[in-house]
Parts: sequence; C-alpha cells; structure tokens
Amino acid sequence: AKPWADPAARPYLEIAGVTKRFGSTAAVDRISLGIHAGEFFALLGPSGCGKTTLLRMLAGFETPDEGSIRLDGEELSRIPPHERPVNMMFQSYALFPHMTVEKNIAFGLEMERMPAAQRRARVEEMLALTRLEKLARRRPDQLSGGQRQRVALARALAKKPKLILLDEPLGALDRKLREATQFELVRIQEELGLTFVIVTHDQEEAMTVSTRIAVMNEGRIAQIGEPHEVYEAPQNRFVAEFIGDVNILEGRADAAAGRFVFAVGGWAELPEGAAPVAMAVRPEKIEIELARGAEEDGPNRILGVVEDIAYLGDMSVYHVRLDSGSIVRVARTNRIRALEEPIDWDSRVRLAWDAKSAVPLAA
Ligand code: ATP
Repeated sequence: AKPWADPAARPYLEIAGVTKRFGSTAAVDRISLGIHAGEFFALLGPSGCGKTTLLRMLAGFETPDEGSIRLDGEELSRIPPHERPVNMMFQSYALFPHMTVEKNIAFGLEMERMPAAQRRARVEEMLALTRLEKLARRRPDQLSGGQRQRVALARALAKKPKLILLDEPLGALDRKLREATQFELVRIQEELGLTFVIVTHDQEEAMTVSTRIAVMNEGRIAQIGEPHEVYEAPQNRFVAEFIGDVNILEGRADAAAGRFVFAVGGWAELPEGAAPVAMAVRPEKIEIELARGAEEDGPNRILGVVEDIAYLGDMSVYHVRLDSGSIVRVARTNRIRALEEPIDWDSRVRLAWDAKSAVPLAA
C-alpha cells in the first residue's frame, strides 16, 4: 500500500507553504509537502539547500516565518515541545559521555517518569533492536563510531515517538558500515512501524532507505517521488544531474518535423506536449556497438569514437567522443562486456537507446 498514491489519504505530517529566512536569504522557501504515517522519507540535496533547516522546523528547534506544519492534524507550534511525539537523532550523536549505554538510552524515559520496571523492559527492547546487548555497561568513549551511532539511534527510539528525525545519521561511518547500517535502519523502521524523516546529501543513501525522496535545491523542492521516479523520470536538469550519472543532450525542438534535434547529432521523436531544451539519458540506458561501414546518425543513434574506458569492476564506463566533439558516457556491465566482442580505445562505435530512455527536460 502506498498512501501517498491515494489523493484522499491525509498525510500524517503536513508542511504547507513553509518559509524560513536568515537575514535576507530564505533557507527554506515556500515548501509544501505531505509525509504519510509509516513512511521513510528523505530530504536530499546539496550543502546549503535548506534540508537541515526544514528538519529543525519539524523538530521544533526553529519556527517558520510563514506557513504551517501540522502533525496528525494539529499545528505543531501549539504542541509544547515535551509533548511532541517527535525525536531527533543528531549527526554528532550527542551522547552523555559519563553515562553507560543503557543509562543513555534510559535517560529520556526517566525524564518522562516512566515506571522503573517498564523502563528496564524498554531499554532491553532497544538494546536488542539495535544489537547492543553486550555493550550495555560501556561508556561512549569505549565504543566504536558505528556502535555510538546505534546508541544514539536507540536513545532516539526509546520513547517510540511517532516521528523520528535523522540528521545525516550515518555521515561519520565508513562506506561498508554505512551501507550495512542503511539496511539496519530500514529493518528497525519497519519493525517499529514509525515514520522516519532523514536528511542526507548522499543520493545512494536516500535511494536505499526511503519510500520517497524530496530533492531540494536552494530552499525549494526540485521534485518529490519514489526513488525510481526521481531516477528514471527526473523533471528538471537539477534532479537529473544530482541523482546518479547522466548525459544531458542539448538540442532544439523541430515541431514541424516532430523531432527533437540533438546538437551533438541524431534526433529523437518529440514527446507530445513537451517543449524540451535538452534530454537526459542515463549512461546504462545506452547501448554501444562497433560501427560498421558508412553509418550515419539517426533517431536515438549517434556515432563516435571511444576515447577512454574506466574499469569499475562490476561495470565499465566508456567515454565516447562524438563527431560533434562532445563526450557521452556509456556504462556497460562487465558480465555483458565479457560476452560481446571487445570494444577498445579508438574503436568507432554506434550509440543507441530506446526512445523512452531519453527524458525531456524543460528549461
Ligand atoms: P548542509 O548539508 O551543509 O548541512 P543544508 O542543506 O542542511 O546544508 P541548511 O543548514 O538548512 O542547509 O542551511 C540553508 C541555508 O541557511 C544556508 O545558506 C545556511 O548558511 C543558512 N543558515 C542555516 N542556519 C542558519 C542560521 N542559524 N543563521 C544564519 N544562516 C543560517
């Protein structure tokens, strides 16, 4: 079930026309979006795009200058901070250095006067959930970075707040641990059935963990969609370039001929209703074959010469210089590469793709 696909379903968190200014610049500029209960929602964008400021407004650390944030139908600013069913996990983890792991986890429960027996049971549950049972008596300085990260998560989850906010939670972990922890986060989120909002600048991380992604740029939303939507159907150049690798092929629409003519050679059928200024084609959507004889550019087809091949283990990326001088990148898995005839440096090649693999980009 995808509640966001149902226009009648009311989001659990409703952000409406929210603006936050620092001085004369709007860090968050009239953003509206709805996040549904049980979602793992990612705010993704480059440094300075306003994602942390938006998250801090959800946490109640910042107040919007304009707009409203409703949680479960209630205006957030009217709920006193300690009664908000929201908890934030910080990038710095912010653990108490003099307290053991279990004390760190229990702290918030003590503050809200949870009875001791219930508290102990909850701490046990959180230790098990985050696989920290054996480390319960250690202090933060006796833990690795990854273990500290799990303590911070256990602490943020302990009260089982309905909404968990994660600010670059895996930023300090090395790549391997980071990838493993992404799956752990999803497991925990699904097990508890809570709503997570994560801030990240790492598009692979956002794609891995989230149900939907809001791609942000300069305080605004560039696109909201499921991971495959923002990857396969970017609505604009910013999203196409920020998510994954892409070739942007400039050109002009020739409406009379029903064609979009690429500046680099070749053309595509002009999609109905669209007035693109460029088209985005992912490197792995392009087929590369040795060109034979006197071939010419054609529909979704361009000729060029292999100038460089980057071997990446699972795949190889071919840099192909087109006759127009531009470079197009083509990715091919090495499983396929091993089966087909070798394409080497200086080979003359034909690049071709399905019409639907070229995504029109508006100005
Ligand atoms: P990063 O990934 O680098 O943390 P971000 O996308 O989270 O970036 P924000 O931290 O939300 O971006 O900042 C957005 C803009 O608002 C930036 O230009 C930043 O300099 C500015 N800004 C954020 N907080 C403040 C503040 N307290 N005072 C003044 N300007 C601020």
